[in-house]
Amino acid sequence: MKIIFATGNENKLREIREIMSDLADETVSMKEAGVSADPEETGSTFAENAEIKVRACAALVKESGRFSEDVIVMADDSGLVIDALGGEPGIYSARYLGHETPYDQKNRMILERLNDVPAEHRSARFVCAVAAEIVRAGTENHPSERAEVLISQETMEGRIADDIAGENGFGYDPIFFLPDYGKTSAEISPEEKNAISHRGKALRAMREQLKRRI
Ligand code: IMP
Repeated sequence: MKIIFATGNENKLREIREIMSDLADETVSMKEAGVSADPEETGSTFAENAEIKVRACAALVKESGRFSEDVIVMADDSGLVIDALGGEPGIYSARYLGHETPYDQKNRMILERLNDVPAEHRSARFVCAVAAEIVRAGTENHPSERAEVLISQETMEGRIADDIAGENGFGYDPIFFLPDYGKTSAEISPEEKNAISHRGKALRAMREQLKRRI
């Protein structure tokens, strides 16, 4: 079975390929599959936004009529939730303080906003929702039917560090402190992070849901 994952992010694709390898013969990006969906993320939760992406991508796959076998269309939506900031940046993590603002700057501004907040009130989590729709071959004939979308959601718990540290990972990793490791998620290896990350856990949970369906 083939998976089409609604992302252009190569790092994500590498991780997804690895996790899904015992379920799918092949995991490709939308671009590689020849479809291009970029819907507005109008949902108010991670799960809603992941579902919006999957439905948009699946609609194009059905419309294209190019797939003679069943395919799984998948998407994710993720972000950082900081309790002391009322859940910010949350679903706006990518857009927070401006899409083009470098993360070094975003991270410094978050540390500044939490300047007076003691460790016990700096709790935070990364959240990832994964959505999947199985597009059965031949469904292009009746794409208006509301297909079932499977959802999995997981978190990686931690707290906002006092300082920026680490070169691995991306985005908010340098300010995300993992108490069990005594390090930020930018200081652990990619393998260590994949084993405990919100995305890794949500993808593995989705793999198990899908195994029961196909
Ligand atoms: P998206 O799910 O690709 O839309 O990403 C949402 C945003 O959340 C990213 O651009 C990052 O700002 C943040 N984010 C999600 N997961 C991580 C992570 O594992 N490390 C650091 N930042 C993350």
